[in-house]
Amino acid sequence: MVEAGRGLGLQVMDRCNLTILTEPGQEDLTDFLAEHQVEVIASLPCYLEENVDGQRGNGTFAASLRGLQALNARGYGKPGSGLALSLVYNPIGATLPPSQAVLEADYKRELQIRYGVCFNQLFVLTNMPIRRFGSWLQSTRQFDAYLGLLKGAHQEANLDAVMCRDLVSVDWQGYLYDCDFNQMLDLPLEGTRSERLHIRDLDTPEALTGQAIQVGEHCYGCTAGQGSSCGGALG
Ligand code: SF4
Repeated sequence: MVEAGRGLGLQVMDRCNLTILTEPGQEDLTDFLAEHQVEVIASLPCYLEENVDGQRGNGTFAASLRGLQALNARGYGKPGSGLALSLVYNPIGATLPPSQAVLEADYKRELQIRYGVCFNQLFVLTNMPIRRFGSWLQSTRQFDAYLGLLKGAHQEANLDAVMCRDLVSVDWQGYLYDCDFNQMLDLPLEGTRSERLHIRDLDTPEALTGQAIQVGEHCYGCTAGQGSSCGGALG
């Protein structure tokens, strides 16, 4: 898929789990990604070992660091290499994320000083009150308070930039959704006769112009505060 996509001149991104890069049997993965100029986007919830291991389990930070160092060694995250490396942060608890610009500066400084690691940009994401995080909110009786926090921080201006205005999500069978959150919630894009829209139904990208977007209370996760999308803060 990567080779076919790149052969068509498409931008290809890998939402990468850093720990996989140094797993036995995956040693050639970093070279493959670099050879095909795949953009790497990887989750790293903190630049401090104790916080990452506390959230993801002992040894996760060290393994993530080995992955980052392998990427840097191929040129990822380095100026002029053309190999983009982005990191992703989302809050551990039921809070809004801090300023993306401020946190990115902290990450860049601390990762460089402590480990000599560099990267291009940090994406700060708001936790969506759905699926695993939604269940955690329910089980800890924080769901209503968190939804109230998101609603209270709603910024009308973010509506112009939410990712469902420009992107669609495609499931493995080819059915379309406004975004991956709607896909997780099984809220499909509907065609004019109310059947699920399939990618083969689209003759041109313009076929979706004017199509209504399926929204719900989870959408406040995209519009709260600095806004949130797969590319981090909005605006
Ligand atoms: S969650 Fe709602 S606002 Fe956010 S991208 Fe999906 S449809 Fe748009």
